Amino acid sequence: MILPLDSSHKDASRARRTLAKDSSSGEATEARISGHRSSRRRFMQLTVGGAAAGIITAAGGRLGSPHAVMAQSKLSPDAALQALMEGNRRFTTNGATAHERDLAILRENTVEKQEPFAAVLSCADSRVPVELVFDQSIGQIFVTRIAGNVVTSEIIASLEYGAAVLGTKVILVMGHSNCGAVKATIQAKGVPGQISALYPHIQPAVDQAGSNLEAATKANAKIQAALLRQASTVISDLLKKNELKVVAAYYEIGSGSVTLLS
Ligand SMILES: [Zn+2]
Repeated sequence: MILPLDSSHKDASRARRTLAKDSSSGEATEARISGHRSSRRRFMQLTVGGAAAGIITAAGGRLGSPHAVMAQSKLSPDAALQALMEGNRRFTTNGATAHERDLAILRENTVEKQEPFAAVLSCADSRVPVELVFDQSIGQIFVTRIAGNVVTSEIIASLEYGAAVLGTKVILVMGHSNCGAVKATIQAKGVPGQISALYPHIQPAVDQAGSNLEAATKANAKIQAALLRQASTVISDLLKKNELKVVAAYYEIGSGSVTLLS
């Protein structure tokens, strides 16, 4: 369970603006990381505490082994990415097999543990059913979804938990065709409620790629992936150790196919 953090959205949006202007700016990266450090420390305290509590519970219960709770994928980052892409190939060629698995057994096996091999940051769009798209089932992928697949402090916290605690080996940041969030940002019209709160996150992609929806959506996925690589010290440390990959991708709704962008 991920607990709410007190970190501000401002760090992420400031970083995003800077990143869109100049992705090679070391100074900007430093500012971003230092702004994120205190919330990261608190997050790790919370998650490590939670993980330890889980282990103690299991040790006192019927499982009796920390490994049963915290077992992690042994795949390399490249192999994890390949497994996702092979799943997508099965999905697009009507060869999906995930639905044949016994869900009752999967549910039972994952009561006390989860060991997802991959994480996906996807749009909330109903036409992007992430597990189906990659032909995966219960306990296999750690999915965060938000309109426009934008990186916020809470999304970073979630993906850090997936990578640092659960051991996901790849994070796919996936935009998709006909994305309403990107389209709305391009049009910049008045919208009800707080929908426009998404715009500042996506605007750098529109500034970079212009008003072509596909180009802006692909730019957005790349910008969000770059932001994730640099704004999170947890993730950047795992990247340096080659224990994780962060890859931008684009999902074509009509064909069901996922294309890697970076
Ligand atoms: Zn969308």
